[in-house]
Amino acid sequence: MPNPLFDALIAPHNSKAELFATLPDGKTASYAEFIAVVGRAAHVLDQAGLKPGDRLILRVEKSVEAVAIYAACMARGVIFVPLNTAYTAPEVAYFLSDATPRLIVCDPIAAETIDAGDAVVFTLTATGEGSFAEAMQDAPDDLIPMDRAPDDLAAFLYTSGTTGRSKGAMLTHENLLSNARALVDVWRITEADTLLHALPIFHAHGLFVAINTTLLAGCALIFLPKFDVSEVLRHLPRATTMMGVPTYYTRLLAEDRFTRETAAHMRLFISGSAPLLTETQARFGDRTGHRILERYGMTETGMNSSNPYEGERRAGTVGLPLPGTEIRVMADPGKIGMIEVRGPNVFKGYWQMPDKTAEELSKDGWFTTGDLGQFDADGYLTIVGRDKDLVITGGYNVYPKEVEDVLDRVPGVVESAVIGVPHPDFGEGVVAVLAGEPDHDTVRAAARQNLADYKCPKRLFTVAELPRNTMGKVQKAALRETYKDAFS
Ligand code: AMP
Repeated sequence: MPNPLFDALIAPHNSKAELFATLPDGKTASYAEFIAVVGRAAHVLDQAGLKPGDRLILRVEKSVEAVAIYAACMARGVIFVPLNTAYTAPEVAYFLSDATPRLIVCDPIAAETIDAGDAVVFTLTATGEGSFAEAMQDAPDDLIPMDRAPDDLAAFLYTSGTTGRSKGAMLTHENLLSNARALVDVWRITEADTLLHALPIFHAHGLFVAINTTLLAGCALIFLPKFDVSEVLRHLPRATTMMGVPTYYTRLLAEDRFTRETAAHMRLFISGSAPLLTETQARFGDRTGHRILERYGMTETGMNSSNPYEGERRAGTVGLPLPGTEIRVMADPGKIGMIEVRGPNVFKGYWQMPDKTAEELSKDGWFTTGDLGQFDADGYLTIVGRDKDLVITGGYNVYPKEVEDVLDRVPGVVESAVIGVPHPDFGEGVVAVLAGEPDHDTVRAAARQNLADYKCPKRLFTVAELPRNTMGKVQKAALRETYKDAFS
């Protein structure tokens, strides 16, 4: 039995001299060099006693070595569990107790404080040094993958956990491979591409969408530690594709140095993880002549839909279902309802949470995404918001996005977030939090002119910036907490 994921992503590049990654300091790694590191990393896993099905937690800054550890897990059947470097000690303690890893790779500071239990701890720094790197020095670099079935687990990715405990989404080899194949196909990624990679690699976007498609197509990465606008502008002239969260594109637009010329040779800009404003899409088009391609996905399913490569990229929508993936909206045609997804990309369930899994994943394979959406007549899907962000005021449903779209068009409003907070009469009252320097009377007038009374915000607040997480998502739960007394 072979190892289809490894055979598709890693094996074809063995001894290939082509470029795999360029680092910010100009250092490069060819595919052959990268795969030698994967081989050594796999031997370190063997020496540490890891067996298929064991978990490895990786909590380090971005480096080629970190990617090699991911690939080594793929080769060895070890379940890869990446963690956000921003997690605090109590959060990390929870993930360790939940995932019970046999091996932890972290930065040297965390290694001193972490309560690892029985796990082996190795260190790895942003520059690829530390005890893991030392162990690799003495290891051979030959690489024979273990057999894996499509249904075997490749990774757990912890969901952001905005309600309750973070859950480990169990992703199989087949989940990752089918999704990478669909994306390489619809986005026409080839060996000739160079992807500007500024995303974190502990999340599905930067790890699976970006790295798996790169490995499958055999193209090159410009591997930046984080999104720094000057660094991105410096490297963009050598890239052909970029993947980002919407914030990356608004930050680029805020720079006069970002011009039509800077983007002239680019083939494709892709956005996802949070909604891309229609206004951002329009400004990006005016500035560069490029139309950003927006897609939709999540930790549990990988990518579900994408605007087309050829054909209309419709602003405000997340496009059409990917080949092999079914999407349905649980409402009458054209109406708003819960989005459900089925296909080879849909995860196997939440680690050690059979009840949660049964709630969200039906026996016939439909996953309840928690997102509300709507199909238009041409089959393009629009995300209206998270189910739990829906505001119910006096018995009426208010979809925050509809209100935000109106507010965002008011001069002085950079962007807005509409939330529901407790209200003595209506159950919930509509509150708008505005970023920018808007005149509140103008905002109220625009709302009254465009929206039914019950949808108009009853209170307005202005802030310098909306709170966002690293993936660019507006933190509505945090806003609800901040403004919970707005009507008391
Ligand atoms: P995560 O599991 O962290 O990747 O978050 C997934 C969630 O991000 C989805 O359930 C959506 O709510 C949101 N999301 C992802 N892509 C988009 C998009 N293009 N537009 C709007 N929301 C998105």
